[in-house]
Amino acid sequence: MIQNKIDTYKHKGLRKKLIETIKNKGIKDEAVLQAIDKIPRHFFLDLAFDKIAYEDRAFPIGEGQTISQPYTVAYQTELLNIQPREKVLEIGTGSVYQATVLAEMGAQVFTIERQKKLYEKNMISYPFLAKYKNIKFFYGDGYKGLPTYAPFDKIIITAAAPMVPIDLIAQLKPLGVMVLPLGNEEHQTMTRLTKQVDGTLIEEKFENFVFVPMLKGKSDH
Ligand code: SAH
Repeated sequence: MIQNKIDTYKHKGLRKKLIETIKNKGIKDEAVLQAIDKIPRHFFLDLAFDKIAYEDRAFPIGEGQTISQPYTVAYQTELLNIQPREKVLEIGTGSVYQATVLAEMGAQVFTIERQKKLYEKNMISYPFLAKYKNIKFFYGDGYKGLPTYAPFDKIIITAAAPMVPIDLIAQLKPLGVMVLPLGNEEHQTMTRLTKQVDGTLIEEKFENFVFVPMLKGKSDH
């Protein structure tokens, strides 16, 4: 999947349509919509997906994993209320699309992937990521987070979490926010946790989604 792709007027036009679609589904945050408008999603996909890259769908990216649906990416990002220069930890790098949306919005992104092949692919496959110096890649277990780089303003989990990962709560700043799909394998409820100054959590529940599972430990392939 070494990419030497071009962002044509056709791709740009399809992206405008995608923006309309996700606006109609309820996404309002202009900064989120602008980031999605700027990022060539087809760069993150195999050539075979070129014509359909701007449909509001998830697609396979290899290793049994997926690039999230644009609406889902926008939904989680809107709930995070990203401000420039915030430190954001992402669990589940996958295709790097979500991380790029956060980086385009000016966040300092720290993203962890548990599958070695995906992690390695991310490091070499995307020449255009060179412009996003604000994304740092890690190979590891997202349940453990990145204690050396903590605390974070925001944490986003992009895989289905069966429970709130306790280690990650500890890595959140006071008044920090975590957005995660929480639930069983069949469906998850998008959940936003806000850490209070006294360490307690305020929990808000949103729509249901279906993500690939958040698995324990690293995988060496
Ligand atoms: N954010 C991605 C979505 C990828 S799908 C994108 O924009 O494309 C979820 C990803 O989470 C998969 O790549 C999966 O391997 C990864 N994952 C699952 N459990 C994990 C864990 N414990 N730690 C880190 N990554 C994990």
